[in-house]
Amino acid sequence: MKCPNCSSKNIGKISVNHFYCWNCFIELSLSDGVIYTHQVEEDGSLSSLDDLFDENDRRFTL
Ligand SMILES: [Zn+2]
Repeated sequence: MKCPNCSSKNIGKISVNHFYCWNCFIELSLSDGVIYTHQVEEDGSLSSLDDLFDENDRRFTL
């Protein structure tokens, strides 16, 4: 898979269906074939970046 934000393939696996992009430092999670993107804020909370991407760009195919 590659990052929908930066197209990097430098993706680290955190857990099942949960990944991290080492290039742009966002978290990625997979659900029902769609990639959900989250940015970790300074206070440790997660904010969704999904609004930035077209759903077609987030659809994950093996
Ligand atoms: Zn990225």
